[in-house]
Amino acid sequence: LILKPCERRVMIIHTKESANIDRVQQLAKATQSVLLQKDERYILVTPSKMQNPPSGFDVIIDQFWPMSSDLQLGSRAYLNQTREVALGEVTIGGSTSNTIVIAGPCSVESENQIRESANFMKSLGITALRGGCYKPRTSPYSFQGLGLEGLKLLAKMREEFGFTIVSEVRDATHVNEVIEHADVIQVGAKSMYDHGILRACAKTTKPVLIKRGFGTTLQEFAQAAEFVLSGGNPNVMLCERGIRTFETKTRFTLDLCGVAWLKEYTNLPIILDPSHALGYRYGISDLSKACVAMGIDGLLVEVHPDPSAAKSDAAQQLYHDQFSELLTAITPVAKAVGRNIV
Ligand code: PEP
Ligand code: MN
Repeated sequence: LILKPCERRVMIIHTKESANIDRVQQLAKATQSVLLQKDERYILVTPSKMQNPPSGFDVIIDQFWPMSSDLQLGSRAYLNQTREVALGEVTIGGSTSNTIVIAGPCSVESENQIRESANFMKSLGITALRGGCYKPRTSPYSFQGLGLEGLKLLAKMREEFGFTIVSEVRDATHVNEVIEHADVIQVGAKSMYDHGILRACAKTTKPVLIKRGFGTTLQEFAQAAEFVLSGGNPNVMLCERGIRTFETKTRFTLDLCGVAWLKEYTNLPIILDPSHALGYRYGISDLSKACVAMGIDGLLVEVHPDPSAAKSDAAQQLYHDQFSELLTAITPVAKAVGRNIV
């Protein structure tokens, strides 16, 4: 491997299984690396400008990958396949061709409401139920979510129906509550720069769904995932949910070009959220077909038993019959691109 001297290279190093821990620590210190343990070996993620690992450590090094940017553990240059992530009984990524549908209301509003959603999702075979309890509202006067009471209602739905529960974190004050009660930790678009949240998510092994901020570049998005991956949690998924453009007729603009980039350069499962991108019910089904045609790992859709009465995101949540139709509509599209809707 020949590198131009001026090129900035960072590096991932895998040690041999037999590597002496003192030597590993010396190498980590010499390269100022983040050190991770995976099975019987260590992984060092270096921030240093290096063309080769420092000399004298050959005996403990198994493999190394020079990289051109700080997109490291999440990059295809390191692992050229989509990481496998288990969402309850359903696995996405890896050698599967699964596209999981995550659905449910924007917010958990009451026991009756979430039970009605749960009953309906169960009847359609949906395994992942979403519902926010800490809502990142634009106004302090809008409904802020039920907090812990909502998380307990979701946990009840898991016990009664067997769902995988997806719920969002708004800030670091309640991140551990969400980690305790939910099965998948959703990091909100407005919260994905919060290192307190990302570092707390790194300490669990529960899957983390990071939503892209609406003013976030793809590089920054992928690097938010690095905070979780480098802290020891390999179960990270990226969710594109629309970015802000000059357009005002739609709430945001779903960045499918960005999805192509993420598929090409990152190894993380990709979930698409057409609901927050469009912001209106009318086109969610068409947009979902376009999303599924991209060969993605998951689709996240907001559905409410009575959208007109919803306490948040009322204009975009689907009526139950609309969601049934959506599922029927995306199934042949998934099949056409070699995917299974699960
Ligand atoms: C949500 O999923 O309800 C939500 C608030 O999403 P985002 O963080 O993408 O705005
Ligand atoms: Mn919402």
